[in-house]
Amino acid sequence: MVKENKPINDTPEVAGTPLAIELGENEKAMKLVAEILAGKIVDIRPAFDFTSELGFVYPDAEKVLGIETEEVLSVLESLADKGMLKRDFFDKFLRCPQCQSVSLRPTTHCPKCGSGNIGRGRVFEHFPCKFVGLEEEFISRGKYICPKCQQELKTIGTDYQSLGLLRKCHDCDEVFSVPVIKWRCLKCSALTAEDRVSEVKIYSYSLNEAKRGWLEFELEPKSKLTEFLQQRGYEVQENATTKGRSGAEHSIDILATRDDGIVAYNVAIGVAVAEYKVGLEQIFDFDDKAYDIGIHDKVLVVIPGLNKEAEKFAGQQRIRVLEVKDLETVLASSVPLPGEVTREPFEFKSKPQLIEYLQQRSYEVQENATMKGRSGAEHSIDILATRDDGIITHHVAIGVEVVEEPVGLDKVFDFDNKAYDIGILDKVFIAVPGLIKEARQFAQRQRIRVFEVEQLEPSR
Ligand SMILES: [Zn+2]
Ligand SMILES: [Zn+2]
Ligand SMILES: [Zn+2]
Repeated sequence: MVKENKPINDTPEVAGTPLAIELGENEKAMKLVAEILAGKIVDIRPAFDFTSELGFVYPDAEKVLGIETEEVLSVLESLADKGMLKRDFFDKFLRCPQCQSVSLRPTTHCPKCGSGNIGRGRVFEHFPCKFVGLEEEFISRGKYICPKCQQELKTIGTDYQSLGLLRKCHDCDEVFSVPVIKWRCLKCSALTAEDRVSEVKIYSYSLNEAKRGWLEFELEPKSKLTEFLQQRGYEVQENATTKGRSGAEHSIDILATRDDGIVAYNVAIGVAVAEYKVGLEQIFDFDDKAYDIGIHDKVLVVIPGLNKEAEKFAGQQRIRVLEVKDLETVLASSVPLPGEVTREPFEFKSKPQLIEYLQQRSYEVQENATMKGRSGAEHSIDILATRDDGIITHHVAIGVEVVEEPVGLDKVFDFDNKAYDIGILDKVFIAVPGLIKEARQFAQRQRIRVFEVEQLEPSR
């Protein structure tokens, strides 16, 4: 009875306005996800409830979240849109376009005149007079009598025939096999043509297993990691969008920044999820982004792990790779926190004062550190400051020049060269009484943080 070619509304209307739910920001979605991950809810299945507004409810989810069906549906739809939940077709509802009620009753109508006054049954044709009618119209005192010519029907196949089970309109006498279906709303009484009635698909929802690892990370370790970083003086931005040198916009899962007065750190933390193992492509992508933005402190959380060639590449590119279990270990064995440090700009007064300043900020300080470079040459660095943040260790090379005349390009060039050969990317150069212009420009280009001091206070 249902025609094949009617328009099907593929986007469920009730879910037509997905709320902008950001996971991590939306407690309800997270709560629901947590219940699913914990196995407390397996399938979120709808149940029919014609006393409800929508005609169905999600009893489990509603109980967990303590909210109404419509809101639950928004949460479910947004999680499904993000690929965290899978939709499975459950049923299709028809809805009155006037009042949205699901209480509709089908009614049949004559295709010629639209009347609802139609009968159904065996239909006979009387050959002599050509009359066509329902069997019941021929029955008279236990015999078949033609209501048109009043003759008795004798033998089927000779003077009359049966056309089979059909319908006949009592208003216009049209005989037909397929009636027109219309829907009567039991709430507002509106009668709606079949192709005008709203269709709503309803779904049951279940976890997208491919996302389990990622969701498990989102749920617990991620917020702990954020907290861990904040305790270490980082400002943390989730899903940070940054423009790279190429002009392209990049999104970094977690961007942690900290300026301790001497060095400004930017740590890019990526999260890579794969069903089996994270491969080269994903890690390459992350490294590319970090490079374009100009970040050299790179941490990649891999779920569930990394394949061999990706591991090799990560090593070459100095990406700290953490599996969730590693991350949990790091978070649990947290090093003592640096004391609360005021964020006033650093001012160089003397080498001992600089060392104290660094030590207050949890750096290990080595004066006149000798290090072997990649070239094989030995280099001496005025101050080598090392700080282990738990998830990343920062090495800072500090060059100090206290001379009579502004420091020239050669000194800065030499310092930069040494740092490059040793493989240190965080570079600080302190110049008393300042730098010449070319040296300053060079330092800027090489991302060396420069402190220029015109003259030192006379030591007390
Ligand atoms: Zn007849
Ligand atoms: Zn009719
Ligand atoms: Zn209605």
